[in-house]
Amino acid sequence: MIKECVLYKKEGDNVRCLACSHKCIISEGRSGICGVRKNISGKLILLVYGKISSLGIDPIEKKPLNHFLPGTKTYSIGTVGCNFKCDWCQNYDLSQNSKEAGISGEEMTPEKVVSEAIRTKCKSISYTYNEPVIFIEFVKDCAILARKKGLKNILVTNGYFSKESFDFIADYIDAMNIDLKCFNDRDYIKYCGGNLQPVLDTIKKSYENGIYLEITTLVIPGINDSQKELTSIAKFISSIDKKIPWHVNRFFPMYNMVTTSPTSIESLEKAYKIGRKYLDNVHLGNI
Ligand code: SF4
Ligand code: SF4
Repeated sequence: MIKECVLYKKEGDNVRCLACSHKCIISEGRSGICGVRKNISGKLILLVYGKISSLGIDPIEKKPLNHFLPGTKTYSIGTVGCNFKCDWCQNYDLSQNSKEAGISGEEMTPEKVVSEAIRTKCKSISYTYNEPVIFIEFVKDCAILARKKGLKNILVTNGYFSKESFDFIADYIDAMNIDLKCFNDRDYIKYCGGNLQPVLDTIKKSYENGIYLEITTLVIPGINDSQKELTSIAKFISSIDKKIPWHVNRFFPMYNMVTTSPTSIESLEKAYKIGRKYLDNVHLGNI
């Protein structure tokens, strides 16, 4: 089920991927930063089309989405690869795998994904675990079928969309949880390998397009737990709509940050108080 990507264009001897804001220029035989979109004989190929590496039937609150179809189950799928490389990634075995160990996963067609979601009595499909924008063509094929069968579509995403990928998928997405990891470009570049502004743009555009939205911030000691940083995030969300729920989650040592302490409960309570100054709904997670 290896498929040609839709979101790319030729540029001389290379191709330029248009799926996320990296807009990688990829030469023959090479892959983009995410490791799953490869230039093969001048065509950009999606190596993980229908290659499901992680699958779960989760309570929707685990995505987390606390105010969208509450109490229902969501059929959750992900592949390997990611366009970011966050030092605290809780799913690094999936997200960074394609860059080291190659592509793996169980073959599933969009028809199979949708029929399994229905069979397991899920009300929605969540594209999650790694970053769905890197396999957006598969997301769209599933999402179109899911809609026809009365299922909702959910993206759990780092928000690093390009204009092209947002326009490509927006009409088929009902809800999103978008990570807002910090509020300065320096740390986005240093710890995640991307920039802040495209994430902010995705949050704004999703809201303007009527996509139901919740935001998540993993509160990490010494990185984004200052009064200034948390206030900036809360004020930004509030500037769009103070009713947008904000999840402030507890960090546990992981991946490249095994020597950093877990977030203290005091720090999470501080984040909660800051959030409630500006927002109607703040949820503490991972506690
Ligand atoms: S999805 Fe992003 S990271 Fe992956 S090849 Fe395309 S532009 Fe590069
Ligand atoms: S965006 Fe998410 S999946 Fe990708 S590296 Fe960062 S935390 Fe991991």
